[in-house]
Amino acid sequence: MFENLTDRLEGVFKKLRGHGILTEENIEEAMREVRMALLDADVNFKVAKDFVASIAEKAVGREVSKSLSPGQQVIKIVHQELVDLLGGDTQQIRLDGRQPVTIMMAGLQGSGKTTTSGKLARMLKEKGRKPYLVPADVYRPAAIEQLQVLGERIGVPVHPSSTDMNPVDICRMAMDAAAVQGCDTLIIDTAGRLHVDEHLMDELKEIRKAIHLSEILFVADSMTGQDAVTVADTFNQALEISGVILTKMEGDARGGAALSIKKVTGKPIKFVGIGEGLDALEIFHPDRVASRILGMGDVLTLIEKAEAVVDKKQADELAKKLQKNQFTLEDFLDQIQQIKKMGSLEQILSMVPGINKLKQLKDAPKPDERELAKTEAIIRSMTLKERRNHKIINPSRRQRIANGSGTDVADVNRVLKSYSSMLKMMEKMRGKPGAFSGQKRRK
Ligand code: GDP
Repeated sequence: MFENLTDRLEGVFKKLRGHGILTEENIEEAMREVRMALLDADVNFKVAKDFVASIAEKAVGREVSKSLSPGQQVIKIVHQELVDLLGGDTQQIRLDGRQPVTIMMAGLQGSGKTTTSGKLARMLKEKGRKPYLVPADVYRPAAIEQLQVLGERIGVPVHPSSTDMNPVDICRMAMDAAAVQGCDTLIIDTAGRLHVDEHLMDELKEIRKAIHLSEILFVADSMTGQDAVTVADTFNQALEISGVILTKMEGDARGGAALSIKKVTGKPIKFVGIGEGLDALEIFHPDRVASRILGMGDVLTLIEKAEAVVDKKQADELAKKLQKNQFTLEDFLDQIQQIKKMGSLEQILSMVPGINKLKQLKDAPKPDERELAKTEAIIRSMTLKERRNHKIINPSRRQRIANGSGTDVADVNRVLKSYSSMLKMMEKMRGKPGAFSGQKRRK
């Protein structure tokens, strides 16, 4: 996400930091570079122009704060402008007000509407809502089936739509059916087209007329850059959308759509899709994303992800084990599994502050999922006795474990060595107050 832009902006700020005092020329040059970086990231031309003009105005002639260097001050201004550009405060989906909540998903074919309907249903279900999925794309039988499969996987009921029905009738009937089943949130997956077309818009308008809609969310593929922005604008003018969901963000190194869509349409990004899995949907937080773009990481999301997978009781037990020097290879395996639940290593690392700079080093370590999988296979090939007492793992056992896990003895040695050094490190930390308190930070 945004890697290219982050690299470019880091270059600009590095130069700025080199100056003790910033002159108007310094700032002007930096802003020219920021503008070029934004344009290369496929940001809308006018949006980029206004963005740098606003920063330049704030940066020149600003009171010098004693605690920040001139370069840092510019970064602070850029951060705030980025937050504004991305939409300011986080805009949550509206779940209060008139019930049942009805969310219509709209967008072009292939943008990710159906998948995102499933992801959103899953997220809302976890929040305690009772979602009801409504397939209203009667042109593609596969779309109805796709939603039925997704619904089954996440345990959410799906309205029995069929291709001979009219989408408006489907929605009306779905309102009654949802009430009968005690569902409080309808998610309507509408038809898409390859291009904007009038018939599609009319159909969506008909649905809006027939039932009350709490949200009209425009779903767009972020990889399509400025096209996504143009189509969002068209949908907004025809339908008055209430928000945007950008999908496939994990593969978008440029970020032009994310950085332009709010300014162009006036409508906020509410969620982003970051993978094909049903858990790969995140609430869009402009401030966190701005920090990520500036290479400052996103520690809050990292903590939230960790909290979502870490069970408090388990964490406390682990802390006790660490204190008593009872951290076994079995616990090690548990830890690997928890990390895997948080997402890919690449995704987790991307939230660590300063990681971008580290990645630029020539011999920077690269996250390798295969190494994690190998370590897991090796521990799984150990007997329970071995996992609980690594000291009994002699050379012949090492050979057996290597054969069992399809690895080499050298790999087994490596895992045992890193486990031993972890134990040693814990040994050193023991006695330091609070080192293993097991307390979790809360926002
Ligand atoms: P629809 O035609 O708008 O309903 O699009 P689909 O929901 O069928 O999605 C089209 C393709 O995009 C599918 O292969 C999805 O798995 C994929 N997709 C959707 N969201 C994401 C995402 O956030 N990341 C990635 N990598 N793929 C996604």
